[in-house]
Formats: sequence, structure tokens, C-alpha cells
Amino acid sequence: MKYCPNCRQMIEPRKHVNWFVLLLLCFITGGGWLIFYVPYYFLFKDAACPMCGANADDFPRNPPSEM
Ligand SMILES: [Zn+2]
Repeated sequence: MKYCPNCRQMIEPRKHVNWFVLLLLCFITGGGWLIFYVPYYFLFKDAACPMCGANADDFPRNPPSEM
């Protein structure tokens, strides 16, 4: 869990996957694009706040003490 300063609450950062685009690209390329996407997903794609989509790498693990 991390604290999102944008949403002002604790959030669980997650890598967002657009399943519609993923399936569409699989359909178009016959799955060949996954060879490029899988390394990209694990190496470069950043976990983000599920609420606002902001990159969660820089979020603090605890809310700021001043409330
Ligand atoms: Zn957020």
C-alpha cells in the first residue's frame, strides 16, 4: 500500500492493462506483438494509482503526518 497525494488516501499501486487493446492487438498480429509487450510490461511499465493513474513510484508508503 502507498499513499497517493492526489487522491489523499492509501491506494494499492497496480499495473494497468487495457484488455481491449491487448486482445485487439493479439487478434491483429496473431499474438506476435506479445514478444515485445511482455518485456516492456515487466521492465518499463510503472505501477500506478488505480484511482487517478499517477505513477506510484514516487508515492510515500505512509500518509504525511500533518493532517
Ligand atoms: Zn491517486
